[in-house]
Amino acid sequence: MSDGSAASPAKTIITLRSPVAESALCGVRVAAKIGSACIFCPDFAWNGRHKGSDQEGAVAAGRRQRTKRLPAQDVEAIFGAFSAAEPEPKGELLHTNPFTLLVAVVLSAQATDAGVNKATPALFALADTPQKMAALGADRIAELIKTIGLYRTKAKNVQRLAEILVDEHGGEVPRTREALETLPGVGRKTANVVLNIAFGEPTIAVDTHLFRVGNRTGLAPGKTPLEVELNLLKVVPEHYLLHAHHWLILHGRYVCKSRKPECWRCLIAPWCRFEPKTPAPVVKEKGVRSPPLPKA
Ligand code: SF4
Repeated sequence: MSDGSAASPAKTIITLRSPVAESALCGVRVAAKIGSACIFCPDFAWNGRHKGSDQEGAVAAGRRQRTKRLPAQDVEAIFGAFSAAEPEPKGELLHTNPFTLLVAVVLSAQATDAGVNKATPALFALADTPQKMAALGADRIAELIKTIGLYRTKAKNVQRLAEILVDEHGGEVPRTREALETLPGVGRKTANVVLNIAFGEPTIAVDTHLFRVGNRTGLAPGKTPLEVELNLLKVVPEHYLLHAHHWLILHGRYVCKSRKPECWRCLIAPWCRFEPKTPAPVVKEKGVRSPPLPKA
């Protein structure tokens, strides 16, 4: 992933305040100008078009639809299916305590969990507390995380947030969204992840995957991540709220993928409103040859 150096086109993180076009693949409204990117869809390229062939785009555009919200019994059935398949879902970011979780989530902005997990073991071996991280310094942190996109800015944020935790929170990660959101590099999504995983709060962090799944399925249609989050909080049965974030993110990451949802192996397909569902791929038999023709 680019570090935003001079060779890369300027990256403008767009908001949904002034959308001028709608993404064909994820259905998110985006600013369609050169240099803009859809922050919710990793398949959206910097030139204002999604990656992939025109045909893929056309197919996806044909599938795009405004989904209606699912009835309560279908929502219950969906989370019942998730729960039966994986009763204790876990996040994939490596961490050892609330502080390292907070740092890992900050580093994961516009990066993959797998990419973050490659860099953080060495970082956390040296600094797994705010005191040690603050002492490490932004330059050394940057050196340790340079494989992660935007590493210079992230290193400064991590060092500064560690200092704030030491100076203002007694070296502890705060347990409220308001306090978390005052830290550098921490927004609502990051705060929700920390509150959910570290402190067991029933929060739902809406990232690109949750945004897509919430809209496609009809679970919680919404035009912004906040709208999807608030709708999910309204419809997800209370007894499933704690794990809803993990079930949905893992489902979006591995099954309900951006470009080609794997509906043929989806355990919530019976209740999902997305149409037409992706059929199972045709498996071609290998090594089967026609018998030789008899000699005349
Ligand atoms: S049926 Fe398809 S579109 Fe619906 S949730 Fe499953 S993978 Fe996604």
